[in-house]
Amino acid sequence: MTVILINRARRMKLFTLAHATYCEVLGSCGCTVVDRRTRRRVAQSLTLAAGARSSELPEAVLKLGDVIRAVASGDLGVERVAPKPKPRASKTERFSVESRRARPRKGSR
Ligand SMILES: [Zn+2]
Repeated sequence: MTVILINRARRMKLFTLAHATYCEVLGSCGCTVVDRRTRRRVAQSLTLAAGARSSELPEAVLKLGDVIRAVASGDLGVERVAPKPKPRASKTERFSVESRRARPRKGSR
């Protein structure tokens, strides 16, 4: 599931997508490794202008301390994006139903 964050505050907000929280929950790391030898990383950050909506983000952002605090104080709105439902009937099934219907009836007059 993905979420959209809405900045309801009157000023810009910056959230750090902390590796220990965000990457761990997400199960993959999007940090920039600045030093391959020491494995030092710089976490990604998310900037939201006043009144702005973010793009669809992984639910993992809701685990960040800064995000939890901002949501609790009402500065940040959260909109959950439901996954798209899968179509039930396959294309071949739908086609056979349509062709049956289109066949002219015998002796209908
Ligand atoms: Zn990371």
